[in-house]
Amino acid sequence: MSSFPKQVLDHYHDPYHRGCCEQTTHAADGVCQESGCQLSIELAMGDATIVEGWFEAEGCTACEGLASLVLERVEGLPISAFPGPDWSAWLPWLDFGTDEAGSWPSCSSLVIDVLMQAVGSPVAALDGDLADGTQFGGPSLREEC
Ligand SMILES: [Zn+2]
Repeated sequence: MSSFPKQVLDHYHDPYHRGCCEQTTHAADGVCQESGCQLSIELAMGDATIVEGWFEAEGCTACEGLASLVLERVEGLPISAFPGPDWSAWLPWLDFGTDEAGSWPSCSSLVIDVLMQAVGSPVAALDGDLADGTQFGGPSLREEC
């Protein structure tokens, strides 16, 4: 049984930006203690705006589909436009209404937790000299993708 909105299932089957972000400036990962779902998010940010967001997950339909859907929605937006760190505030923002039926599993909030963490977690500059806010200028040394 699944009572998630169809868009979440669609995203689960055909994810948006699943993989590595080539110009990651911010990243975070997390695990849902209850479900064991794992999620990592990589963001390319500039001027406090999400330029690109990518994810990798070992999760379930809900959190993987939701991660894809949320990253598509926040792309191009300044983080000041986000509803905040509370998952319940994202539901109406994503046009999902409220969770009166309790149909969203606990790992749904993992998506928001990891996203908000990523926004506040600049990745270490490769050569140690780059300060926060440095724009991507040089060649990327991140070859692991
Ligand atoms: Zn999950």
